[in-house]
Amino acid sequence: MTTNRRTALVTGGSRGIGKAICERLAADGINVAIGYNRDTETAEKLALELREMGVEAAALQGSVENLYEVKKVFKQVNELFGGLDILINNAGITADKTLIKMERETWMRVIQINLFGTYHCCREALPGMLAQGYGRIINVSSIIGLTGNIGQSNYAASKAGVIGFTKSLALEVATKGITANVVAPGFIATEMTKKIPPKIYRKIEESIPMKRFGRPEEIARLVGFLASDKSDYITGQVYGINGGLYM
Ligand code: NAP
Repeated sequence: MTTNRRTALVTGGSRGIGKAICERLAADGINVAIGYNRDTETAEKLALELREMGVEAAALQGSVENLYEVKKVFKQVNELFGGLDILINNAGITADKTLIKMERETWMRVIQINLFGTYHCCREALPGMLAQGYGRIINVSSIIGLTGNIGQSNYAASKAGVIGFTKSLALEVATKGITANVVAPGFIATEMTKKIPPKIYRKIEESIPMKRFGRPEEIARLVGFLASDKSDYITGQVYGINGGLYM
């Protein structure tokens, strides 16, 4: 399956923001490995859709919190695509509770997937990127990593961690042709925000200066730019994309 096109791995690529990123990258002529955890049918359907757009695509199962599974995914990427140029760490979850009610398990699950997952994938991607002298790493954080939020101390800690992690990584690889940046979305209409009770949803909408939730494609356009050769001189940056909610 190897071609001269660049190859991207998008974790959590099967739906929501990740799916929009996969579609954006494919539209830009980039081969896409779709990382997912549970929903094989949805991921395979997307892989078919991307292949119909003219690029190579594969759905690869593995939980990002598990280093063994991440290694398996990277092995498959190398076998199928011959290497990796672009890594989008998008897989993420929420498990909301105020701190007084938050057991260690709930804390750990979010940190394991959102922060350890990002570390695992970057760690596995780096040797190949260093060897080829080229790489684009885009880590998806959140507005909550910048502002904090009631009931989201685990999520906020994981997403703030992603920011500090990415800046450190950007410094370490700055002379190696590899850039590392963060995208920090505000409230975006996906399965994740469908969990918000309607009354609170409307309140959030009202508080956003643009008076609406963002669309996954709007995040994908920014990621597409950062993943391209046009973003050569940009590294260690945090891009808010939130309808004006946080400036
Ligand atoms: P989503 O619709 O819930 O999709 C989450 C994706 O992550 C799915 O593809 C899911 O795959 C995958 N995933 C979950 N756990 C995983 C694991 N352990 N290993 C590998 N993949 C896993 O979420 P979304 O709203 O698109 O969010 C995407 C990213 O944007 C997340 O990092 C989120 O924190 C961030 N974000 C979202 C918003 C928002 O308002 N939606 C705002 C700011 C930041 P399976 O279904 O196969 O498990």
